[in-house]
Amino acid sequence: MKKLIYCFFALLILASCQQIETQTESAPKNVILLIGDGMGIAQISVGYFENNKQIHFQRCKHTGFSITYSADYPITDSGAAGTALATGYKTNNGMIGMDADSVPVQSILHYAVENGKATALVASSTVVHATPASFIAHNISRYNYEELAEDYLKTDIDIFIGGGLNYFNNRKDSVDLVSQLKAKDYQIVTKPADLEAIKSGKLAGLMYPDHPPKYIDGRGDMLIESSMKAIELMKSNENGYFMMIESSQIDWAGHDNSSEYLVGEMLDFDKTVGAILDYAEKDGNTLVIITADHETGGVILPESDERDAVMEINFGAAHHTATMVPVFAFGPGADQFTGIMDNTDIFKKMYSLMGFDKK
Ligand code: MG
Ligand code: ZN
Repeated sequence: MKKLIYCFFALLILASCQQIETQTESAPKNVILLIGDGMGIAQISVGYFENNKQIHFQRCKHTGFSITYSADYPITDSGAAGTALATGYKTNNGMIGMDADSVPVQSILHYAVENGKATALVASSTVVHATPASFIAHNISRYNYEELAEDYLKTDIDIFIGGGLNYFNNRKDSVDLVSQLKAKDYQIVTKPADLEAIKSGKLAGLMYPDHPPKYIDGRGDMLIESSMKAIELMKSNENGYFMMIESSQIDWAGHDNSSEYLVGEMLDFDKTVGAILDYAEKDGNTLVIITADHETGGVILPESDERDAVMEINFGAAHHTATMVPVFAFGPGADQFTGIMDNTDIFKKMYSLMGFDKK
């Protein structure tokens, strides 16, 4: 009899453990989307070789491909691609947070706010550049930077960190958006060294007048430190959080056809990916997705004359290309991100994994 009761309780514990496991497997509390702007497979391979034949991306056991074309061209720009990832709608090149008929569409970040999650954006460009702006703003043109900055005031995002202070307090229309941010309880940080002191609350990190410098020109660990600070500030939210982190300048290295620039940006991004995966591994409730908006530069790693020579990096294009980009996923729900998907599917998968379709 004792044995039977023991068996019964053992089964009960086993059953409840299994239930917990399936719950965490399917429903991530937190979602972190990392976007390497312009990062194709060759760029990731550059990171792999330049980091002694290893890269943190390898820790993701679920991988797939994303098709990146925009509504009006086979080759997307970062506005249309950012909008696809953020909202699930294909749009025309150059547009932000609108569908191809110029109708404003809601981003995953806005849905997260509505559902009580904390939200953050981190970028190694200005916060009004196309990729981060796609998660916040609605505009016919990605280049209306001052209008895109105004849209930050219309949201309840908790944390945004990058460059672009000039678009908030040194504007053509002389409007002081920094005062308006303060009135909405944002703490304003204007240099990376001051980030450390922020221990709670809302944060607008406008840490450079314009774009942050290149990694090879001394940007330092701004991307990783900003990302980890955002997690520190959001992790106590009982409903979890959504964060988008962009390594913005992989794209610019591709446009410049600069190997040195590309290597620096890829090593910086991989370090950030590593820190995020370390955190997600310990946390157990965080889904991490790493992808790109498109490839830039047509990067190839061609045959080299000397067998032991340093790897050669060549460029086949000066702008974006139409090739598929890889998707890597880690944590609860990661198994959804395999095979070939459309870039708009990434939004749809995040949306349903966070349970927004059930509300
Ligand atoms: Mg970008
Ligand atoms: Zn570009």
